[in-house]
Amino acid sequence: MSERLGCITCDATYDIGKVRYTCDCGGLIEVQRGGPILHRDTFEARRMSRHPNDQSGVWRFREAVLGVAPNTIVTHPEGGTRLYLRNGIYFKHEGENPTGSFKDRGMTVAVTQAVALRVRAIACASTGNTSASLAAYAAQAGIPAVVFVPAGKVASGKLAQTLAYGARCLQVRGDFDAAMRLVREACDKLGIYLVNSINPFRIEGQKTIIWEMLQDLQWEPPDWIVVPAGNLGNTSAFGKALKEAFVNGWIPKIPRLASIQAHGANPFFRGYQESFATRHRMSAETIASAIRIGDPVSWDKAVTAIRDTHGVVEEVTDDEIMAAKRTIDGLGIGCEPASAATLAGVRKLRAAGAMKDGERIVCILTGHILKDPEANYRPENVMEIDATIGAVEKSLSS
Ligand SMILES: [Zn+2]
Repeated sequence: MSERLGCITCDATYDIGKVRYTCDCGGLIEVQRGGPILHRDTFEARRMSRHPNDQSGVWRFREAVLGVAPNTIVTHPEGGTRLYLRNGIYFKHEGENPTGSFKDRGMTVAVTQAVALRVRAIACASTGNTSASLAAYAAQAGIPAVVFVPAGKVASGKLAQTLAYGARCLQVRGDFDAAMRLVREACDKLGIYLVNSINPFRIEGQKTIIWEMLQDLQWEPPDWIVVPAGNLGNTSAFGKALKEAFVNGWIPKIPRLASIQAHGANPFFRGYQESFATRHRMSAETIASAIRIGDPVSWDKAVTAIRDTHGVVEEVTDDEIMAAKRTIDGLGIGCEPASAATLAGVRKLRAAGAMKDGERIVCILTGHILKDPEANYRPENVMEIDATIGAVEKSLSS
């Protein structure tokens, strides 16, 4: 199987065994793959296997993810997340990954590649979920890890998790976008391997969210796939996953992507409104910290994904996000705020007539409910009482 790194802007290609994140022309690069058509029957058979590489919802699809020796794969294993059907909508809960977010899908691939490259350390900038995932996989692989996070802007569950796994945490005075610029410079100058989603191997892993979902739907694609949109890694990965699934003949048609941004962090939505004529950058603010990003790195790949899938980009307010979160939490599923942007987006797109009644919709929930404890507190449900049965009776009658 021939794999190489190829620029998405020009025709340049690069050796897959060399460290590279962008083309000499400045364009983003992606993993490109030749070789024969892959048959989905292979993936079905692996669901019966007990081997960690087959149990992984990423490496089950390994021929279409990364060609490495099976015994060099760094897998927890990850994936294998559930697909819930509630009130006519499917929710694929990527918060059920080992570290509680979809990031594990890309991280298992990026860290496997880091081992192959024999790097001295790995680093990322993060709003929290990437750092937790990086820390866990670095610990497993025995590679030193450094995370760059915006000081005071990371949900407590994510920060605590990152520290517990043993990563060095640099709290950057500035926002996520400042941390992102700094980690890129640091990796270039200090020879550290960058595993943000600008790393093309992360995207290869995140494709499997879509393939596993399609497998669970017995390869009958839904009409819509709805995803929270921040740094645009998932939007990019999903577009690539759908294209490859179609080319390989796994699905007869390509579903439409709906990427949902928070109103206070909506550069991609602004671009979409003007047919992506210009690239927008902004100072981002939203309660949904996982998508609080004003200068998304995967912009160009995400534009291609929206165009290739006849997709849409929508924005929702923080109030709409939190209302949707209460609905998802109230179903007994639960998610972090950014994930709830999906359901909020569905509500808005249905109201506008863009999504029709009867269409099959899959919302991708990206992070676990415990990631952002502060967003879960419901004071109206709490009451402190004296230790008497009378106090219990009184509290239940009010
Ligand atoms: Zn190029």
